[in-house]
Amino acid sequence: MQVIFPFRQAADLTSIRERLTVRFGKIRVEDRPDPISQLVGSFIGSRTYDWKSWDAFVRLVQRYPSWDAVADAPVADLEAILEGVTFSEKKAPELRQALCSIRTRFGLIDLNFLADHSVDQALNCLEKIHGVGRKIAAATLNFSVLRKRTFVIDTHVLRILQRFGFVGMRADTKAAYDAVMASADGLDADDLFELHWQMKSLGQTICTHAQALCASCPLSDICLHRVENLTTLKAFLDKPGFEEAPIRTSLGHGDADFYLKGGLQHGVLHEVFARTGHEASATGFVAGLAVRVAADKHTLWIRQDFSAHEFGELSPSGLLELGFDPVRMLLLSVANASDGLRAANDALSCAALGAVVIEIPGSPKALDLTASRRLTLAAAQKSVTAFLLRFCAQPDASTAETRWLVRAAASQTQNEDWGYPAFEVDLIRNRHGKTGNWFMEWNCDERIFQNATAYHGAVVSASAN
Ligand code: SF4
Repeated sequence: MQVIFPFRQAADLTSIRERLTVRFGKIRVEDRPDPISQLVGSFIGSRTYDWKSWDAFVRLVQRYPSWDAVADAPVADLEAILEGVTFSEKKAPELRQALCSIRTRFGLIDLNFLADHSVDQALNCLEKIHGVGRKIAAATLNFSVLRKRTFVIDTHVLRILQRFGFVGMRADTKAAYDAVMASADGLDADDLFELHWQMKSLGQTICTHAQALCASCPLSDICLHRVENLTTLKAFLDKPGFEEAPIRTSLGHGDADFYLKGGLQHGVLHEVFARTGHEASATGFVAGLAVRVAADKHTLWIRQDFSAHEFGELSPSGLLELGFDPVRMLLLSVANASDGLRAANDALSCAALGAVVIEIPGSPKALDLTASRRLTLAAAQKSVTAFLLRFCAQPDASTAETRWLVRAAASQTQNEDWGYPAFEVDLIRNRHGKTGNWFMEWNCDERIFQNATAYHGAVVSASAN
């Protein structure tokens, strides 16, 4: 029985298609196989990588001069040819049986006569063949030269339809097929072909069996799974008492820790703004915060391609001098702010990371209140802490837990000892405590922030640049 969710009414196939076309482009193929070749290809291809099943198909047609020869071949030979294909030991006898069944039923191994049948008649005919279910039957009719108006539902497509809320989580291929076809009024055979391959691409790259990277998904704003997750998360965040016991890491600086109620909170978004000309110092300050919070875990640092030219490279030896282990720092270079935010949202769902730093110069459109809300929600999922490092920008509305303004301060030098990197820090936003202003220095040996006095001496670079 077809299950219809209220959600589905708001998210029809047209919306899905539009979004998937923007992401994966148009997919049209003119060069199509004959129906028997397509049926055999689909038979071999189930639960197997496309390239593997294609290799096996090519071996098969090179080895045998006709489909009759395949039907008459010893099963052991077919199995050897299908080696590498998933369940080849089952597929070899079943393929042979299917071809024999077509020959017995229709007089010869040829399905071109289905061109004269209606879709329902053709499906009916094919599903009577041994081993042929709705998926293979629909593929034979839609992908081949028959080009009939059917929709192919493989495991990727079914998973997306289920997660999306288009069908129930227990719907099988047949039920999902009925649900899609009942909503596909304006779509012709080529549209359905295209929709299948677009959904499959989504299932292979973003909504995979192992994980749903919803933050990168073009369907995220209309997907039931995504909406349910956000609702659950919101309920969790809104729960009384949730805010009473967050995990915090002490910075080492007594006053700052006191104002932060014990230290920097994990699993939230923190913002650090560099005062003009003090980008390197802010970089060093954020590195210190990230190292404190990430502890033994890795930190992912996301920056744009041009950042190294504008603001300097993140140098491993510089990091080492500051007491950071460069091995625990992963650097991701992206083309623009949107890519950086998308990558950050995905990375924040990885519990193997302790912190994610997103370095964003200027005030790109992509970085609005919604983007900041997304980062906050993503950070809360696995308690990975997000740091937004802003250069050449003014503070704006956001959901950040804390916001810092940083400039370099003079280090306290003694003879040839250049002293520790020092910062003048303003905590200008603190959602759960007071704001303040301090001179801090980063103790490279102990890897903690400590109190420093304002000092007018040589300024030591506070950054890893
Ligand atoms: S939003 Fe998430 S669950 Fe929904 S289709 Fe996209 S990746 Fe899958």
